[in-house]
Amino acid sequence: MTPGEGAAPAAVKKASVTLADGRELIYFGASAGESAGYPDRRPIGRVEASSQVRYDPLLGEWVIIASHRQDRTYLPPADHCPLDPSQPGRLTEIPAPGYEVAVFENRFPSLVTPPGDAPAAMAAAPEAALASGDGGTGPPGLLAVRPGYGRCEVVCFSPQHAASFADLTHDQAALVLSAWIDRSAALAALPGVEQVFCFENRGREIGVTLSHPHGQIYAYPFVTPRTARVLATLACYRRDRGRNLFDDVLASELGDGSRIVIEAERWVAFVPHAAHWPYEVHLYPRRRVPDLTELTAAEQDEFCDVYLDLLRRFDLLFDAPAPYISGWHQAPRHAERDEFALHLELFTIRRAAGKLKYLAGSESGMGAFANDIVPERAAATLRRGEAV
Ligand SMILES: [Zn+2]
Repeated sequence: MTPGEGAAPAAVKKASVTLADGRELIYFGASAGESAGYPDRRPIGRVEASSQVRYDPLLGEWVIIASHRQDRTYLPPADHCPLDPSQPGRLTEIPAPGYEVAVFENRFPSLVTPPGDAPAAMAAAPEAALASGDGGTGPPGLLAVRPGYGRCEVVCFSPQHAASFADLTHDQAALVLSAWIDRSAALAALPGVEQVFCFENRGREIGVTLSHPHGQIYAYPFVTPRTARVLATLACYRRDRGRNLFDDVLASELGDGSRIVIEAERWVAFVPHAAHWPYEVHLYPRRRVPDLTELTAAEQDEFCDVYLDLLRRFDLLFDAPAPYISGWHQAPRHAERDEFALHLELFTIRRAAGKLKYLAGSESGMGAFANDIVPERAAATLRRGEAV
């Protein structure tokens, strides 16, 4: 860290309330305390949520089975948006008449809080040690199943229904980042949680069921398949080369230069050499850190500029705002935190105006991606900030 850069920014203002059905909602920002003064007046009861995770013995990964989600809200009309602030006669998920950033437990979660004494129940979940893969007890059984304990949260980026993340000011983006950091720390501390994933799906094409600008956070009771694979590759590379794979990938992209999109003082954005998606960008802090909680104030500050710039470049690609998926890859709780590199992966499934890249036979059936856009060309288009 550069001397004088400051370790962490001042703690963000936040205030927590309990919704009518018992879920937690947390307001972030200067107005948090005031917003928390409004009670939830809706006559709603807790959704009977049930979830389990089953082990796929062939792929060696856990699958979440959560049937109650079939009933969730699907693209309600704009005047019924549950993520808008509440108004007289129109009560939403957010009881206050105004907010800056709000985070609440998903009413239709894929992963559920255990009944009763939550922390104790999660810690005592059978096979919890097996899921982390560090118990040395071998893989779970062929028909292994356990409760889908964890937590799913919704992050409202802005009270403005028609906005998108790219429309946020630097300070609004910084508040969202503060909320991600706060929740990453809080959820990782829950017993039984192995990994926290903050992400955003944007656009109907991605399957978004609410158009209000929002993201989600999943706190999984296992290391996700994607991350488990990266951890294995990382360990092999360390064993064979004695070096950190993330460091070498970033250095090689910087050295090559042809796929760099943005090179800032503290962050670097590039299209990966073997991009899976038509337009895909990976954003790394130059200083390797395991997760969001380790970012300095200066890194947080510059992230907002770089990320907003990236999203705006994505929106210039096509005739309409790009549908995208954006997610933070963070070190799992029990992984080698010294080896993992926090980074964000952003990609669109659109390859041209009106044309979507579908996960068809090869991708869905075999996990073998075929990308129609040459990564160097995608990087050049994004670098220039042009349309496809
Ligand atoms: Zn809305």
